[in-house]
Formats: sequence, structure tokens, C-alpha cells
Amino acid sequence: MQKNFETQPANRGVTDEMLREINKYTRQDLTADDVFVFSVLLCDNEVDRDFERFSQKSLRTLAELFRGKTAIQNHSMDSADQSARTFLTEVVTDETKRTSLGEPYTYLKAYCYMPRIEKNEARIAEINAGIKKEVSVGCAVRSSICSICGADERISPCKHRRGKTYNGKVCHYVLEDPTDAYEWSFVAVPAQKNAGVTKHFSAAAQKLGTAQKGVTLTAAEARALHDSLERLQKDAKAGEQYRSDLCETASRGLLRALPALSASLAKSLCEGLDCSQLRALSLALAEKNAPRTPQLARPADTRRKAKNERFKF
Ligand SMILES: [Zn+2]
Repeated sequence: MQKNFETQPANRGVTDEMLREINKYTRQDLTADDVFVFSVLLCDNEVDRDFERFSQKSLRTLAELFRGKTAIQNHSMDSADQSARTFLTEVVTDETKRTSLGEPYTYLKAYCYMPRIEKNEARIAEINAGIKKEVSVGCAVRSSICSICGADERISPCKHRRGKTYNGKVCHYVLEDPTDAYEWSFVAVPAQKNAGVTKHFSAAAQKLGTAQKGVTLTAAEARALHDSLERLQKDAKAGEQYRSDLCETASRGLLRALPALSASLAKSLCEGLDCSQLRALSLALAEKNAPRTPQLARPADTRRKAKNERFKF
């Protein structure tokens, strides 16, 4: 997943301790003059615009996972764009600031270095100028917990919808148990949050559709594509459930109509059909299985029975 945070990179003086950490990642020892060190806020525990938030525990795990990871430009996989490396991370709690949920505001701070070479000059100048940027982090989490009922969306999705209010509480998902952190990148801050998602998705889809070789997506395109895939996966899950319900109804109807049929044969016959065929079959079987109502014969009683039977497939 991709998460975006507005952040203001700050230039740092290079201490000996920092150099020791930095030199763990370099082939030859660098001196304070060789490197430019800055810090950046990677992610925090505030509910974001996708109605998700990291727990404090997740932030601590991410702090470990992000150590040594590179900072790239717009999630490009080109190694030439790997401009900075995270050499130290810490989780900071700002006791004077509360999140929208009233928790102490906690964030993951990363210390990064860049070699002072010509290629990095523009980026270094930007950071020195303190230009506010959006940082986009890529990571994977094992659990996504509903804030209303505690269900894990990945294992047993519940009926609560993120962003909707239940008993005065807005549903969001708590991201727990991070398993990997890939990289992070500076991206341009969109003027309006969520603006241009559709546009980015179309651009990404077109790039993928016409690709002759490797494709580079911008962070916004990658995010739009990811969000769209997530939505499709949810729809697909609902569709599968619907089809399986139809299949169940039709095979029960078949067994009622043809009691000599084995349950497994009824099931495999139905499994080969698509949704509209299953629906048509269920209706036809319901019609056939409904008892004929003899005219004038105990009308009230029979009608009630017939009515119930029609809906008992
Ligand atoms: Zn729930």
C-alpha cells in the first residue's frame, strides 16, 4: 500500500554518531563533508484520507523496517533515482498534540543521507529551502482492523464501511503488523487531496496497456491503480458470494425436483452455470417444486403451505 504524509524535511548537522550509522551502508567511509543529512516525517498515527491509520505499535515496527531503505523519486524503480538512504529512524510522540481520536500524536521520523554530488544539488537546495512536500511510503501490513467491531478486513470482512458513522463514531481501519517497508519517495503535493485519482488511474492503465518494456508509474498513478484494484477485489468477493448463494439455491431446488439425484451431482451440475443461468434454473425449479393448489380444496390452509414452500428452495 501507499501512504502519503505532508512533511517538511529538515537539514541536520552531521554528528559522529550519524556518520557511524551512515558508514554501515557505504562501501568506503564517508566524512561529514561527503554527505548531506536530513530528517523527514514518514508516517504517523492520524486517520488519513483513506480512513486508515497506523497504530503506535505499527509505527515502531515500521521504524525497524525502514532502516536502510532508499528514498526514491516518485516511486521510480530506476536505481539512478535512488537519491537518499534512511540510516536511522525513531518513533516520536508529541505530548502537546492529540490526534483526531485523542491519542498522543506519534510519528515515524527518518534520518537520511545523500552523497554531496552534482546530481543531488537541486534536491539538497530544495530541502535546505524547507519546501513542504508530500512523502509517500510503500509498505505491507498483515492486518487491517475495523475500528467499530475489531474485525480483520483481510480475514473476516465486516459490514462496516470506512468513512461511515456508527453510533457517532466514524469507521476507520487500523493498520497492524507491518511485514515489509519498501521505500519512500517525495511526491508533489496535490492541491486538493484525492484530486485527479481517476485521471491518474486512466494514465496508469494506458501505460500498462501500451507497454513494450518496463513501465514507470508516478506515485499518484500507482496509488490510483492500487485503490482501483482494491475496490475490484472487494466487488469480486461480493460477486463470488452471490454466485455461491445462487448455486446453493439451485442445487437444493434440483434435489427437491429430482430426489434420485445425488447431492454431489446436483452441485457439480450447478457449478458449471453462470449467474443468469443459475437464476433462471432456480426460478424454474421453484415453479416446479411449488405444490399445485387444488381449487376449492381447503384453500386457506393449502395457500399458506404453497406460499411457504415457494420460498423454501
Ligand atoms: Zn466492523
